Amino acid sequence: AKEQGRNTYQFYTEGMQEREVMRLELDKDLSQALTNDEFVLFYQPQLNLDTGEIQSVEALIRWQHPRRGLLPPGEFIPLAEESGRITDIGRWVVMAACRQLADWKGTEQEGLRIAVNLSGRELDDEALVDHIREALEAENVPAERLEFELTEEIFIQNIERNRNQLSRLQKLGVHLAIDDFGVGYSSLGYLRDFPVDVLKIDRSFITEVTERHDDAVITRAVINLAHNLDIQVVAEGVETEEQLAFLKRHRCNFAQGYLISRPIPARDLEQALASGILV
Ligand code: C2E
Ligand code: CA
Ligand code: CA
Ligand code: CA
Repeated sequence: AKEQGRNTYQFYTEGMQEREVMRLELDKDLSQALTNDEFVLFYQPQLNLDTGEIQSVEALIRWQHPRRGLLPPGEFIPLAEESGRITDIGRWVVMAACRQLADWKGTEQEGLRIAVNLSGRELDDEALVDHIREALEAENVPAERLEFELTEEIFIQNIERNRNQLSRLQKLGVHLAIDDFGVGYSSLGYLRDFPVDVLKIDRSFITEVTERHDDAVITRAVINLAHNLDIQVVAEGVETEEQLAFLKRHRCNFAQGYLISRPIPARDLEQALASGILV
């Protein structure tokens, strides 16, 4: 038994070391990724349930890794947040989104808004808002074309600092959305104190919204709460026609999810919009 115990222990540490080595390697690769231009933005459309039109898209980053292929953000964003590289990656995302908005001028996509994810860690950057302003100016894009998605964590930690960053963002004229709404353990007070334009109901409430009474009750309550505060609502993770019908019936403003489209490259989005298959 003792022997086995030691083997188990060894196995465990070897597994940990292996993971640590992989992490270090990925972090090293991450340090090259910006210079090598390996990041790409995919776009997931948000369907306006009143007009049936696509009015905004969420930018979701992917990493075209030289050996591992296309990596989803879950495989490198947490690492980048730990190491602090997220600041530079976030700047790239904002710049790329502004460039995309400029490219879309005079095309079918003119007028689309791009929603960009901002993690709490990115608000650490004192120069964040200046950088966003500069990116908008460089590409001659109006601030209202950009939306920033923030999770409720920012109302739990570094509250003073985040409050300040949000009010600077608001003054800049960009839109603000609360991402993953309903799973963040924060109080609702911030809806009173902060200029929120959009609530995104977390996918975990939508997945079974047509099967589970409690999810339906919560979803309807969030929609009513938001509307009474003059806030628009996006439902995340919409995968079925039944969910879409439920959301329309209860006057949700936007639906986003695989039913409408997966996140896709800009080219594919342009084609999909041109051929009308999205709407
Ligand atoms: P999120 O902001 O909550 O994004 C929604 C995630 O759900 C995306 O995963 C999207 O592909 C996925 N999704 C969309 N519709 C459906 C659906 O109908 N069903 C299911 N099962 N999933 C759906 P993705 O692209 O892997 O992104 C994961 C997370 O990475 C994002 O969660 C966001 O927190 C973060 N992220 C992505 N891009 C950026 C970025 O540029 N900056 C930062 N800081 N974080 C980012
Ligand atoms: Ca998001
Ligand atoms: Ca989300
Ligand atoms: Ca999320």
